[in-house]
Amino acid sequence: MEFQDIVSLNPAVAATPLDERAKLGAQPAVPLASKEMRTPITGFTFAGLSAELAKMGKEKYRAQQIFFWLYRKRVRSFAEMTNVSKEVRAFLEEHYYIPAPTRVSLQVSREDNAQKHLFRLTDERTIETVLMPIKDRLTQCVSSQVGCAMACGFCNTGDMGLMRNLKTHEIVDQVIEVARNYPAEIVQKFGDRITNIVYMGMGEPLHNLQNVLDSIDILTHPHGFNISHRKITVSTSGLVPQMLELGRRSKVNLAVSLNATTDEVRSEIMPINRRYNLKALLDGCRRYELGPGRRITFEYVLLKGLNDSRSDAQRILTLLSGIPSKVNLIPFNPHPASPFQRPELPEVLAFQKYLLDRDLTTTIRISKGPDILAACGQLRSKEALRSKHAERRARESVQ
Ligand code: SF4
Repeated sequence: MEFQDIVSLNPAVAATPLDERAKLGAQPAVPLASKEMRTPITGFTFAGLSAELAKMGKEKYRAQQIFFWLYRKRVRSFAEMTNVSKEVRAFLEEHYYIPAPTRVSLQVSREDNAQKHLFRLTDERTIETVLMPIKDRLTQCVSSQVGCAMACGFCNTGDMGLMRNLKTHEIVDQVIEVARNYPAEIVQKFGDRITNIVYMGMGEPLHNLQNVLDSIDILTHPHGFNISHRKITVSTSGLVPQMLELGRRSKVNLAVSLNATTDEVRSEIMPINRRYNLKALLDGCRRYELGPGRRITFEYVLLKGLNDSRSDAQRILTLLSGIPSKVNLIPFNPHPASPFQRPELPEVLAFQKYLLDRDLTTTIRISKGPDILAACGQLRSKEALRSKHAERRARESVQ
């Protein structure tokens, strides 16, 4: 996917007056001293905010008003909450602030108008979120961590290592800030609210489970964004205990990054497999508490010569037997430094047909930009794996 730079807040732009920056989507800074003493209000779930207000001697129903202004109107200041009394607004101003990440850049795909936002957080670290208008859906892919500890071999984010978990408000703020800047054509087509959210940006969401659950609570709350749980998908590389906990505590959709059909290959490209191998992962999937009519999506990045053979397709059927499943094939998007290659389209289609012919729902995600969204995180090469793959292929060729 080719992106066109629309906004780039480089240091020169960052030095422009605040009102000018606001036009570009950057947020006026809250004075650091006061901000440090206040709490980001978008980090509270509805129940948490109600309890907080009660603790401070304020009426609980104020939480409903505040949620309305934060998530429906997406105001940037308490002063804009016009049906909240002045006294309560002053109280809010004193104890809380409305956080917003600074948008460093915005790129728009020439192919399909997908928007890639790069946000800078208060500690100067950056995260990405992607907005994808696809047919009748407006889907946003959000990040849950800065970097990732899972170290998947094909993933750019995995190369970074884990820098830190995102706080609840930093997850929610991605959705608010993008919504504040919807272009007119998006508003015209979709109204002013997102229809779907996928936790497939930077990070392993289940490695930050509590904050992810709290962000889902806010995004689905009737007084918040009011997004249905059925329209939210959380992806995991295979943290089995956390996956089962997610199933117990939330009704969102689950996507599992499968990506290989043998432990040897999966451990090579996804180190998490050494801790929870295919059997443990798929046993976990069988125990996962799915709602009626729901299925688990298995993401499968197709890597030429590594996991795209007829035997792999056959093994997928065996592995997923007994699990209400659908498979999403993602042909790898190669780049010069990558040891991996993308299978040719006829091979991808043949792989899909094999599964479809055996009644396994199988879709292909053709270049929504695996550079921006593939299984979870960004895809990139890992030079260190190059020799291991060559070695394995050589071994196979003499067997
Ligand atoms: S693919 Fe997902 S889980 Fe794996 S390293 Fe990348 S972000 Fe982390």
